[in-house]
Amino acid sequence: MRQRGVTVWFTGLSGAGKTTICQAVEEKLRSGGYQLEVLDGDIVRENLTKGLGFSKEDRDENIRRIGFVAHLLTRNGVIVLVSAISPYRAVREEVRQKIGDFVEVYVSTPLEVCEERDVKGLYKRARAGQIKQFTGIDDPYESPLNPEVNCQTQQETIEESTAKVLACLEQLGYLVASPTLQNV
Ligand code: ADP
Repeated sequence: MRQRGVTVWFTGLSGAGKTTICQAVEEKLRSGGYQLEVLDGDIVRENLTKGLGFSKEDRDENIRRIGFVAHLLTRNGVIVLVSAISPYRAVREEVRQKIGDFVEVYVSTPLEVCEERDVKGLYKRARAGQIKQFTGIDDPYESPLNPEVNCQTQQETIEESTAKVLACLEQLGYLVASPTLQNV
């Protein structure tokens, strides 16, 4: 099967659901026989971008490096799923322009909901001042103006969000219609 490469870029606050939706999309695509790679922000920061901090400069550098690798893979026909807070609009746009085949998924869960979930206990620590420069608390998040997909996890299920992403990829011609991708 010839597949077209594309970078699917999940952006949103910590705890918004990027990794969760990304994993569900990955599962569906793998079972459909697609070649994928996943670049998860937390994992990338332990290797590819190890040593970078959370200043605007370092965050932008983090995104540029992820974007560089995503580009290499995308142009070789791989579907790349990137999950990273990526809080700054300009560098997301820069990466989009470079890669070309780029689908932005805004996981737009409101701060209150992310904080309520507090999956990793980070919001509590940020509120207590134990973590500085935490996105949404004392560091900015610039939401996408025109994302291809908007996942509103406060009012939709993981399955619904996943289906939205897959439907968009299919609509844009990145997926060959496959029985395993129906009824998702
Ligand atoms: P992020 O990768 O954006 O930091 P995670 O995916 O690690 O976020 O965490 C999101 C949390 O929200 C998970 O515990 C997930 O089970 C929960 N959650 C609840 N509802 C949804 C939904 N509709 N979509 C995605 N995640 C959801």
